[in-house]
Amino acid sequence: MKTVSTPSIIEYTKIRWYADRCKRCHICVEACPKQALMLKNDIIIQNDNCDRIGVCQKMCPDLAIEVITPRSSEGAKP
Ligand code: SF4
Repeated sequence: MKTVSTPSIIEYTKIRWYADRCKRCHICVEACPKQALMLKNDIIIQNDNCDRIGVCQKMCPDLAIEVITPRSSEGAKP
């Protein structure tokens, strides 16, 4: 049987998730007021609800989530 390993860093459109640091505690998933994160198959997944509020980054005790700063051409939401 082939095993699939999780990449150590997954970069989504708005957040970067560090799999090696994450202990899958679910704090970020529950903390997000936009329900933008879910834990599926041992991987944190960001959906289109994300507004870069940053609660996940602040709440994660393991520094496993980083909000990606938008490039100026993308036009950051206020
Ligand atoms: S809060 Fe941090 S350690 Fe916990 S599941 Fe989210 S990313 Fe992983």
